[in-house]
Amino acid sequence: MLPEKAESMLEELLRYVKLLIHHHIILGYGGNISFRVLPKGDLILITRHGTLLELLEPKDFIPVRLSEKQCKEASIEYPTHRLIYLKTNMNVIFHVHSTAAIVLSLRHKEGDVIKPLDEEGKILINEIPIVEAPAGTIELAEKIVQWVIKGRNVVLARGHGIFVAEEDIKGAYIKTCAVERSLRVLVLTKILDALEGVTS
Ligand SMILES: [Zn+2]
Repeated sequence: MLPEKAESMLEELLRYVKLLIHHHIILGYGGNISFRVLPKGDLILITRHGTLLELLEPKDFIPVRLSEKQCKEASIEYPTHRLIYLKTNMNVIFHVHSTAAIVLSLRHKEGDVIKPLDEEGKILINEIPIVEAPAGTIELAEKIVQWVIKGRNVVLARGHGIFVAEEDIKGAYIKTCAVERSLRVLVLTKILDALEGVTS
């Protein structure tokens, strides 16, 4: 039995996940999602390992105490989710394998920072650091949380996807959309630049 607050957060979260699917930010398995059950404690709800985000339902979330270092039932990215909740005040984490993020990250190396060209991206995100480490590892978790602690709550894992940590569900949704849009703008700009180079 989940606390009442967790039930209402789940409902809100599922509404936003549907929008991310609509915008082709989530495809297939698509990543993983978690949130801290408020008022702040050590309980989170996180998607189960192997969850198809495109068909996300309340039953796909499992409760986990942050005191648990490992949880085989949870998403393989539990170490990253856990470390962010332990080290910051963030309450919601969206991790998505969106296309523009993966494409653009492959043209950069770890340590690079991508700067959005569009106004909304400049205001909401400012810059997107890139990290590289195998999926599901403590190494990835530590690299990501280092940025989140510094206030960079949108981090791009090279060849993999975006991690967005926010204080609330709506904020996480807006930032996930903003980062993917900024990266789509960058990809399209690069394509147009290349085409103009060919035709000029
Ligand atoms: Zn992933």
